[in-house]
Order: sequence, then C-alpha cells, then structure tokens
Amino acid sequence: MSTTTATDRVYNFSPGPAVLPLPVLEQAQRELVSLPGYGMSVLEMSHRSQGFLDILAEAKRNLKALLGIPDNYHVLFLQGGSRLQFSMIPMNLLRGQSQPAEYLITGSWSKMALDEAKREGQTNVVWDGKATNFDRLPGSELKLNPNAAYTYLCTNETIQGVQFHSEPDTGNSPLVIDASSDFLYRKLPVEKYGLIYACAQKNAGPAGVTAVIIRDDLLARSQDSLPGYLNYKNHVKEDSLYNTPPTFAIYLMGLVLRWLKDDIGGLDRMHQLNKEKAKLLYDVIDGSGGFYRGHAQPANRSLMNVTFRLPSEALEKKFCSEGEQRGLDGLKGHRSVGGIRASIYNAMPRAGVESLAQFMREFQAANG
Ligand SMILES: *Cc1c(COP(=O)(O)O)cnc(C)c1O
Repeated sequence: MSTTTATDRVYNFSPGPAVLPLPVLEQAQRELVSLPGYGMSVLEMSHRSQGFLDILAEAKRNLKALLGIPDNYHVLFLQGGSRLQFSMIPMNLLRGQSQPAEYLITGSWSKMALDEAKREGQTNVVWDGKATNFDRLPGSELKLNPNAAYTYLCTNETIQGVQFHSEPDTGNSPLVIDASSDFLYRKLPVEKYGLIYACAQKNAGPAGVTAVIIRDDLLARSQDSLPGYLNYKNHVKEDSLYNTPPTFAIYLMGLVLRWLKDDIGGLDRMHQLNKEKAKLLYDVIDGSGGFYRGHAQPANRSLMNVTFRLPSEALEKKFCSEGEQRGLDGLKGHRSVGGIRASIYNAMPRAGVESLAQFMREFQAANG
C-alpha cells in the first residue's frame, strides 16, 4: 500500500464536503489509533465516556467563545444534515403558531427550505430573486412582518454565490438562518438571531454533524406530539446525547474550532483573511474586461463561493480541465448557474487562492 503525504494534496475548491485545515487532518491522523490519555480511538469511545464528554464540552465551549454566544442560547450537535433542519425548524417553530413564517428566497437552498416548511404550516414569501436568476439580495425594499412566527433566510447561497453581510431587522420575529456554507466565516451578533444552523461539511468540519444554536424561549413552541428525535427540547435536555451522536464528526469539528481559536486567532481575524482571499478573485474578474463575468451583483458577492462565467461553455470546460492539471480541483459550477464556482472556505489557504488567481490571468491571456 502506498502512503500519501501532505505534498500530494491539491487545492480543493469543492463546495462541500470541502477542504479542511491541514493541521486538523494531521492531528486527527496522529490521534486516530489512540487518543492521548485515553488509550483508544475516538472511533471506539462510548459517547457516555468521560473522554467523549470532554470532547463535546470543549467543542461547545470553543463555539460559544468564538461566536460570543449568550447564555440564553443552546448549542446542539445533530444529525440529518441541513436538510433535516428544513423540516425540524417549521415542525418546532411553526406548528401551532397563529402567524405565518416569512421566507426570503435568495437561491436554491432557501427555496428547498420553503418547500419543506409549506408541509408544516402557513408561509409567506417576502422576497424572491428568481426573476434575475438569484444574482442579488434584497435591499431596503424588503418589508417584513415584525410578528411573523419566524423570518427565514439563507446567509450564503452556496450555488449562486450571494451572501448577506449583515442581518435585516426582523422586529419581534425570531430570525432563523441557514448558515451552512458560511458558518464561522465572521463573528455574528448572535443576540439578533432566534436560531442559527449549519451542517459542518462546508465551512466547519466533516459531513455527519449539524450545529444548531437556538434561543431558549423558542423551545416552548415545540409540541410533545413531535417525534422524539425531531423535537429540539429532547436534544437540549440530553445535551446532544439524546441518541448516539456522530462522535467522530464532533471530534473533528472540535479540532476545527480549536484551529480557529488558536491558529487563526478568532473570527475577526478569519473574517479579515476571508475578505482578502475573495478580493484576489473578484479583482481578477473585475479587471478582465468582461472575459470573466461574475454571477452575483457586486454588493451581494459571497466571500465563500465565487461564481463566474467565461465567454463560452467550451472555454469553461477547458478552464476546469486545465485547472485540474495544475492541482486546482472542484471548480465546475452548479448546473443551475453554469460556469465556474470557486469555493474558498475558511480552510482554503491564501496560497490556493493566489494560485487560482494566477491561473485565471494566464488562462485569459492564452484564450482571451
Ligand atoms: C449544502 C447545503 C445544504 C444541505 O446540507 P446537507 O447537510 O446536505 O443536508 C443546505 N443549505 C446550504 C446553504 C448548503 O450549502
């Protein structure tokens, strides 16, 4: 059997599961057979053992510290991915409510979340970006019901590459967000939110675990008639140990949180690095004289998923295959937008983005 090393690694621009910090992978590799101090692998540990309880507690503590989560919020680590949250949110927060929930449809993922919510109760679409193929987000024209059961939006539409850089004022209506592809890319004013959720496999860890941060008072809405696993109250009561949690995924996410805290130095620093990385690519797009055309309107551009077109589909194909030959992997855009999507999450090193920017300039010089 051959062994691989860190130098064999490509720059992985995949939208998810996505790049992880190399120090995290290396630590997981070192500790895989025997976690120091415990004499066994995390994979072999009971979720009730002190070893795993320590891992869970540290992950929670670091997440709270990084985001500055106030004491009246609960942190949960669940399974079922973000898709299950599309359903769990209306099941818990909409059933039995007199007011409808309001949804902002800014791309593919918020649309899918709406489709699930409709099964559970009354919904209002307060904004829909379909007419311009989801290339922008609402501005001051947005009119929200301050008493809606909740107001739902997706902070970063992974497919279209549009991102909210601040949050709308939702009055008394709890703001619920899908932060799957931009979780921890910056510090959030958590107190402005009712519920924040994110599957880990884009920006925070491996597939298999989804973080849910929920304000305490919202738990009162969850009805006892809900299936046990689907009731947030049970997960809060059992501190994410209602059933066997995804122990290895939580361990790995814990390492990512430690990396953010100790290696990066916190989320303000991470935000700065993300802004710098994204600018490298958007500057090439804006300076290309129309050879590269960004999908998102400049004010709503994502720092995480940079989406753009080339003059023809043939050139886009060529771009992807030549990129791959240079170790720039996963650049093909989603079929609904076409073109190129470069996902440059927290863990994508600046050198990877510089390498892509250089390739973009060379590709244009050769093909423009
Ligand atoms: C990937 C993604 C999802 C779906 O996540 P799963 O864990 O596959 O269910 C939902 N929302 C956004 C914004 C995503 O990027």
